[in-house]
Amino acid sequence: MIDCLFCKIVARDIPAQIVYESERTIAFRDINPQAPMHVLVIPKVHYANAAELAEADDGLADEVFTTAHKIAVQEGVAEAGYRVVFNTGPGAGQTVFHVHGHVLGGRALTWPPG
Ligand code: 5GP
Repeated sequence: MIDCLFCKIVARDIPAQIVYESERTIAFRDINPQAPMHVLVIPKVHYANAAELAEADDGLADEVFTTAHKIAVQEGVAEAGYRVVFNTGPGAGQTVFHVHGHVLGGRALTWPPG
């Protein structure tokens, strides 16, 4: 999608700190990290949010989720605990409308998230 920020990261039109890439997914550090480790995992193909992705291609949704776990292992936070969040829709705080899973770790995380 032409005006999508994360599609531009996939295309390398804008820079990002990419930490993982597979055929159908890519993961990069959040520009405004909310934890010592904060990585965004996305499918390379554009879907606006997690609901659209799950309805269109549940195999790809699985891959995005599995990639989130790989990131946690790679970043060394899997044992201590980490969080995966998909803000889905403006009412849930989504601001970039290319589905992304936030993978957060490296500090004690509180609940509820607010
Ligand atoms: P949302 O609010 O949609 O759940 O999350 C969007 C996330 O994208 C935010 O955490 C924000 O910091 C991050 N973000 C916004 N613009 C950029 C950017 O240009 N590069 C990177 N790496 N992250 C971004």
